[in-house]
Amino acid sequence: MYHISQRIQNLSEPEMALMSQRSSELRAQGRDIINLSLGEPDFSTPEHIKEAAIEAVKHDYSHYPPIGGYAVLKQAIAEKLKRENGLAFEPSQIVISNGAKQALANVILSLVNPGDEVIIPTPYWATYIEMVKLAQGESVIVKTFFEQNFKMTALQLEEAITPQTRVLLLNSPSNPSGVVYTKDELMELASVLQRYPHVTVVSDEIYELISFGGCHASIAGLPGMKNRVVIINGVSKGYAMTGWRIGFSASTPDIAAACVKVQSQYTSGASSISQMAALAAYKGSLDPSLAMRDAFKRRRNLIMKKAAHIPGFRIVKPEGAFYLFPDVSYYFGRSDGQVVIQNAKDLSMYLLDKAMVATVAGDAFGEPACLRISYAASDEELAKAMDRIKVVLEELS
Ligand code: PLP
Repeated sequence: MYHISQRIQNLSEPEMALMSQRSSELRAQGRDIINLSLGEPDFSTPEHIKEAAIEAVKHDYSHYPPIGGYAVLKQAIAEKLKRENGLAFEPSQIVISNGAKQALANVILSLVNPGDEVIIPTPYWATYIEMVKLAQGESVIVKTFFEQNFKMTALQLEEAITPQTRVLLLNSPSNPSGVVYTKDELMELASVLQRYPHVTVVSDEIYELISFGGCHASIAGLPGMKNRVVIINGVSKGYAMTGWRIGFSASTPDIAAACVKVQSQYTSGASSISQMAALAAYKGSLDPSLAMRDAFKRRRNLIMKKAAHIPGFRIVKPEGAFYLFPDVSYYFGRSDGQVVIQNAKDLSMYLLDKAMVATVAGDAFGEPACLRISYAASDEELAKAMDRIKVVLEELS
């Protein structure tokens, strides 16, 4: 008789996947569900990228690719890092993976020994916690507050560091809050890190291209930081390529070699066709990505305008990614006469049942007072969803 290992039993399932599944079931029953629980652009992959994939198929890119990725793609990413981020990496320091997710998993497995501590500020992408668990590390959660725009301060970072700290996980632009650390804020964190050379930063920059306020700042670009930072990025969000599964890490040669070692035993190189598509993304024009960013910015403005008319939504204005993350605790303890809303999970279920809008409760991101509303949907759907939310929330007193 088999049993599922304790390691896997201890893992949580992604809340968004469960919500998504629930909304698909309701849709299948004929209900007009607007799904704002998803973490992916609703756009199609740009044409020139699709064409490159078709060419790769025709040119027989059907053999095992090198484990760490094709040299041409690593070169193109090194050029992107130089051109867009001012960072000089050798292609050998870049490892191509099956999405940014695998790049993160490789790095965490490579850096974290059992019992090592990983600092993770709230609100976080839930997967970080599970990856640290799998590496038998300890997540040290730093609670940030609405009043500090959900950004970790230098003082909070310093208080969280111990001799056991190995990694600080930073994510900017953030999923789920949409907040973006400014260069000055990163400088403050970097000045603390200067005093603790045993801490490596893993900087998840997967939403880099969906940043509304101008230039994206990477902590790797600050003085003295480049060799202390592993950059995680990829094509999923900025090029609308979530299904192609291409991400990368850029790190020191030692860390890159360790990541290749992990990948060599688990999965081998990422899909050859997708790598050639990603090459077209990094070599081609940024215009389609910038047009998508502009659309997300327009939707951000639209959803903010709608949300301003909903009492009890406290919102930090998102400056990137495609999520609104209101604090909805105003509604806790309220009822429509039938259902009592105790927490964000109840509210999310209430919105699904009554407004037919799928969202994700903030518990999944370490902020149980909040709700994540994805605005990766059409303007019409967003407007309709927010109007429905407003109406059903008015029932609660
Ligand atoms: N990092 C963050 C913060 C994300 O939100 C996601 C996807 O939702 C990823 C990484 C994973 O990206 P990929 O789809 O390239 O694996």
